[in-house]
Amino acid sequence: MDKLKLTSQLKRLIIDVNGIKIGENLIVIAGPCSVENEKQIVETAIAVKQAGAHLLRGGAFKPRTSPYSFQGLGLNGLKLLETAKKETGLPIVTEVVDTRDVDTVCKYADVLQIGSRNMENYSLLKEVGRIKKTVILKRGKQATLFEWLNSAEYILAEGNPQVILCERGIRTFETYTRNTLDLSIVPAVKESTHLPIIVDPSHGVGKLSLIPPMCLAAVAAGADGLMIEVHCDPSSAVSDKDQQLTPKMFRNLMDRIRRLQTVFLNG
Ligand code: PEP
Ligand code: MN
Repeated sequence: MDKLKLTSQLKRLIIDVNGIKIGENLIVIAGPCSVENEKQIVETAIAVKQAGAHLLRGGAFKPRTSPYSFQGLGLNGLKLLETAKKETGLPIVTEVVDTRDVDTVCKYADVLQIGSRNMENYSLLKEVGRIKKTVILKRGKQATLFEWLNSAEYILAEGNPQVILCERGIRTFETYTRNTLDLSIVPAVKESTHLPIIVDPSHGVGKLSLIPPMCLAAVAAGADGLMIEVHCDPSSAVSDKDQQLTPKMFRNLMDRIRRLQTVFLNG
């Protein structure tokens, strides 16, 4: 296997997304699993903004395990994200699943997400390597750190240096949680690459009660940010309804994150 070339620069990368410095201060990306309708995305966006989130997430193109599950609103979903951005000023993070959609998604997104299932989709990686926007690259559910960093190399090698890694759980023998959140990867990433790393405990554990403690643990482990699913009415969600926090739970969690941060700032 060839050596990694571009993912191990000496200077830590700080990525500026609309004035938000990722890699410098802890950032929180929050929002629903899927964009469903205007009321849902705008209400959720306002709630997460008020609680202190820095960026809004929401899937318009959804990579689903079953072809019969909701696949996302596509272009209409992107337009609804634009409305939510106008209402709140929050930059948009949304997934692209197909090389043919990269240009369209770029028109609406501030940050493009490559999902776990596409970590090894090399043509998609090359395509987002040619754009001038930040890319969040989620870890494949069976990927080693080396394989994950090689996927990041694909993007960097095409000329896009703005890559954020996102741990979202890996597959193990454990079935109590949706995945096994590998928090040891956070310091491992820190000692292996200059790229920022964020953690998505929502997909990592898939269970409401476990998400807040894993968010706090990720911050304690040194993560540069968190991605958290929040929905204004989780019981009506069309995807991942069991792992989306209510706005109230999210506010409470953000308070706890801020309290934890003061420990580090004072220590
Ligand atoms: C998501 O964040 O919407 C998602 C589908 O996550 P993952 O790719 O980690 O499964
Ligand atoms: Mn989801």
